[in-house]
Amino acid sequence: MNGLWQRAADRIRDELGQVGYETWIGPLNFVAHQGSTVTIEAPNRFFRDWINERYLSMMRAALSKEAGEEMEVRLTLGENAAVATPPQRPTNGHADGHANSNGKATAANRATAAAAPRGDRHPTLNSRYSFAEFVVGSANQFAHAAALAVANQPGEKYNPLFIYGGVGLGKTHLVTAIGHHIWASGDRPRKVLFMPAEIFMNEMINSLRRDKMNEFREKFRRVDTLILDDVQFLAGRERTQEEFFHTFNALHAERHQIVLTSDKVPREIPGLEDRLRNRFESGLIADIAPPDLETRVAIVQKKAVLDNLRLAPEVAMYIAQSVSSNVRELEGCLTRLAALASFNQAAITVDFARQALQDLIRNHDAKPDVESIQKTVADFFHIRLAELKSKKRTQHIAFCRQVAMYLCRKLTDSSFPTIGEHFGRDHSTVIHAHNLIMRRVTSDPAFRLSIEKIERELKSIRANAA
Ligand code: ADP
Ligand code: MG
Repeated sequence: MNGLWQRAADRIRDELGQVGYETWIGPLNFVAHQGSTVTIEAPNRFFRDWINERYLSMMRAALSKEAGEEMEVRLTLGENAAVATPPQRPTNGHADGHANSNGKATAANRATAAAAPRGDRHPTLNSRYSFAEFVVGSANQFAHAAALAVANQPGEKYNPLFIYGGVGLGKTHLVTAIGHHIWASGDRPRKVLFMPAEIFMNEMINSLRRDKMNEFREKFRRVDTLILDDVQFLAGRERTQEEFFHTFNALHAERHQIVLTSDKVPREIPGLEDRLRNRFESGLIADIAPPDLETRVAIVQKKAVLDNLRLAPEVAMYIAQSVSSNVRELEGCLTRLAALASFNQAAITVDFARQALQDLIRNHDAKPDVESIQKTVADFFHIRLAELKSKKRTQHIAFCRQVAMYLCRKLTDSSFPTIGEHFGRDHSTVIHAHNLIMRRVTSDPAFRLSIEKIERELKSIRANAA
């Protein structure tokens, strides 16, 4: 197998989880890598269409990240494809030139296509990430409203728009929707550039190396809207930050829209220069929190409709109750159900779902262990794990340790003495820490939010381990 594809596939595995990866990416074959195009072969049309619709952008992004430049993916069919069952699901003709053969439009597509002569989806952005496919609930309401405002009046209302939140909660979806909308509306075509910050960095480094910085700058300053995804990747990259600072200023001065996402608020991004942080904070900052149960049910139902999957309400409820941390995981469950049901030609009942999702879901219920709490707390506060477990008594480290002890007590079944052993302390120290932190959690709302954030982090680690 080709090294680039192998590395990209590893990235995709991290993102999809082992089960999703084995179901969908494992059966693909690498064919060729020419220039900036990688050709991949799907075993049959069902696969190809499904991949085209759901995973092509992910593949393109992973390959681009590994190659350090923007890559294209061409999906072809394997030799035995003719005997495969024809796809039963509607597919959005993917806009990158190798659309699937049956090219039926989804209802959402059809409804808006007539109104927008350019089509309503930008050719290289993920076509599934539109406003129509985004479910609004209390946890993302504000970010959604801000995104709509920006999409309707780019460069005028909130510039930049900065959206932050945990993994898999819809940041990329929402900012991509802004891109589609800006591209499709207005009286003239507008250049929309979406780029993961990591690729911005790689492209800049390559341009520096090849002495092509003028071209690099030109490319970014020509656009009407720049969407930079996951700007936390700029942390500690001074040269990239400097370059982006100038790009930002040039675009902002021309009132071109800038949209940013990150897993944290600007001030929590370590190693972010003050001047850039100021710029990031100068527009509107909106957060996305994990969705509540009602919203999760709505998301499951919406995705099912889009995938042409008949799902009884109690099954949607079962899935939504089982996965609480992360929307991507919810989708993973649904994808797996869809695949199993279509291969087995079975009806999807709660029992079928329970069986099918057994391995995926058991992990969500599992409690974290003391080690993973220690590690997560250390990461969260940017200290080393060894320091957390050491005898050091500096205020900051002692405080982090108390938080870790509190969480161990709250989230595991371990007794005070057992927890003490993991920290090399006796049980009275753990009890003291636990009470101290518990009092602060009840009296200090900002602190409580931080603690909840760590708990969410722990949950998503377990979810990803599934
Ligand atoms: P992030 O960028 O925050 O890590 P993504 O935007 O990649 O998350 O979202 C992960 C998956 O969950 C995507 O497939 C996206 O479509 C889906 N998703 C997240 N939030 C929603 C939502 N509110 N409605 C519909 N789909 C959502
Ligand atoms: Mg994202």
